[in-house]
Amino acid sequence: MPVDQLDRALAARAADHEEATPAPLAENIAAEPRTAAAKCPECGARALHKVDGCARCAECHYIGSCG
Ligand SMILES: [Zn+2]
Repeated sequence: MPVDQLDRALAARAADHEEATPAPLAENIAAEPRTAAAKCPECGARALHKVDGCARCAECHYIGSCG
């Protein structure tokens, strides 16, 4: 198969896939609050939560600044 023909076939498949992907539902976005947790400087996970006024990581139990 010629390369340019293959490229076109892949592009067409990618376009089909994009159209077939349903738009994310509003409730799914609400169930996954990406901005609620801050990024942990220790392990990099977005699992930093304020607990008793201190920033704590739920992944590695890193404790950040309090107050
Ligand atoms: Zn962490």
